[in-house]
Amino acid sequence: MTNKKFEIRAQSTRALIMRLVRQYTRPYLWPLLLAILFMIVAASGDAILAYLMKPVLDDIFFSHDRDMLILVPVLVIIVTVVKSATAYGQVVLMGFVGLRIIADLQTKLFGHVIRFDLAFFHETASGKLVSRMTNDINLMRNALANTLTGLVKDSLSLVFLVAVMFSMDWKLALLAFVVFPIAVYPIIRIGRRMRKISTSALDELGNFTARLNEAFHGVRHIKAYNMEAFESERTESLIESVFRIIFKALRTRAIVAPIMEGLGGVFIALVILYGGWQVIEKMLTPGEFFAFITAMLMSYKPLKSLANINTNLQEGLAATQRVFDVLDTEPNITSDPKAPALAIDGGKITFNDVSFSYDTGTAALRGVSLSVPAGHTVALVGPSGSGKSTILNLLPRFYDTDAGQVTIDSTDVRAVNLTSLRNAIGLVSQETVLFDDSIRANIAYGRPAASEVEIIAAAKSADAHAFITELPEGYNTLIGEHGAKLSGGQRQRLSIARAMLKDAPILLLDEATSALDPETERQIQQSLRQLMQSRTTLVIAHRLTTVQDADIIYFIKDGRVAESGSHQALLAKKGAYARLYSLEIMPPGGAVEASIDGAED
Ligand code: ADP
Repeated sequence: MTNKKFEIRAQSTRALIMRLVRQYTRPYLWPLLLAILFMIVAASGDAILAYLMKPVLDDIFFSHDRDMLILVPVLVIIVTVVKSATAYGQVVLMGFVGLRIIADLQTKLFGHVIRFDLAFFHETASGKLVSRMTNDINLMRNALANTLTGLVKDSLSLVFLVAVMFSMDWKLALLAFVVFPIAVYPIIRIGRRMRKISTSALDELGNFTARLNEAFHGVRHIKAYNMEAFESERTESLIESVFRIIFKALRTRAIVAPIMEGLGGVFIALVILYGGWQVIEKMLTPGEFFAFITAMLMSYKPLKSLANINTNLQEGLAATQRVFDVLDTEPNITSDPKAPALAIDGGKITFNDVSFSYDTGTAALRGVSLSVPAGHTVALVGPSGSGKSTILNLLPRFYDTDAGQVTIDSTDVRAVNLTSLRNAIGLVSQETVLFDDSIRANIAYGRPAASEVEIIAAAKSADAHAFITELPEGYNTLIGEHGAKLSGGQRQRLSIARAMLKDAPILLLDEATSALDPETERQIQQSLRQLMQSRTTLVIAHRLTTVQDADIIYFIKDGRVAESGSHQALLAKKGAYARLYSLEIMPPGGAVEASIDGAED
């Protein structure tokens, strides 16, 4: 199964509901049953109240029965109290179950989505995922709670009220059954339409969330390029389409009530005509007539919510479908649960005639062969877009090769347990990924059980201990979102400390430190060298220092290895590397800037 897009499968309403009930409502069977019991009790309350209209009129008003004058009010009080109490219990219980199901689903959804392949996240705007986890799930909860309440409470209310109507005058009641289907038909059609509209509404909302994420994330660039007006316009057009579709949903939903009311009016007129005539002819007592009218008026509310159920349900089903689509999407890159753990013996890395294309079809690597001897350092250099990051991505299986083999100590990376593979690899990249947590937690990320001594040792070898202890709260300092409260160099040091602590035998380094000032950069380089010691290191080199230290240099161009060898050997060859090197040493402008990869990637 592909994970490129969520697979959209039109599941039948029944299948969706069954799955939802089976997988998610089971743990809450008892609260649900109790809620249903409460609904039954609450539902009978209306019918009893309607029925009591008969003794009120016939016995109290017309026959002046004093016993009934006491009995009926007492009954009314009892019925109302019981009805309100059970109605309260029912709302709370249903709310509880609905919210629990949301929480369970969100937990499951997040746990599922976070395992998806990198390719998936590159192709799916994160806003869309956020929208699925919030908007869609909310719609599901609404539908679930409303549908169940509607199906049990409102339909029972209706049944009881209709029973009262029949017990008063069955011919009159039959009339109701003629009108009812006429009212229901348009409502079912509207429900279907609602499902379609709400699917596109959710799409638009997802786009909108994605847009907001993108805009706020890139706000620095938006300002730098004076693109505020452009962004506002772009966003406005999205807001407008969200408006249009939600307004359409609103109009569709709003039409239900007038239809019901119009039909209700006609019906009441008919009832007054026929019932009044029956009373005048003495076929019906005034009490019976009023009890009938009361039951009929009271049945309007449950009937209306029943009519809404379908629209709610359809909205909820559209959302459910989308959530299940995500849950049914499986990552492509997995390992056999029985696959052995990676046994590292030095950590020699080889790429054997590896080819790889991204889903866009761009051939990123075309037959790359290279090897990193155990414990040595290999540097990848070459123009931006030549495929260096792609090579790095293939080792921890962020992507899988299309052809060829990537091995560690002669074992194919696809043949071993994925967790053990990633445990063996440390990654330090230019985008230091820090989380809004304490410094301690950020260093221990990946090894949460690390002791204080180990954490401090890692920080010391990453040259981070000094600045950390100077912070007001030391290792407990919270660093803000993306480490916003730290300088670029400090962030780098934390991620080096993190890799130190992980102490993996293999190290992947994307060592662009171009954002740092030269002095900081030199210091970071030193920490990195310490980190690289006695590890097999594959590094994307942006600076000459690293390249000269590397045991082998591969010059990558257009997804191929163009040249390889030691720094001296490559210089002697006077090929592409030598040209690039001399350019970097003596750029046309004259300034000496020791950067190989001039263009930034
Ligand atoms: P380098 O690291 O040398 O700058 P990359 O490995 O990032 O080069 O890119 C190699 C090629 O693959 C480029 O043509 C780039 O556009 C393409 N590429 C990189 N990442 C992706 C991606 N996630 N999806 C599609 N194409 C990509």
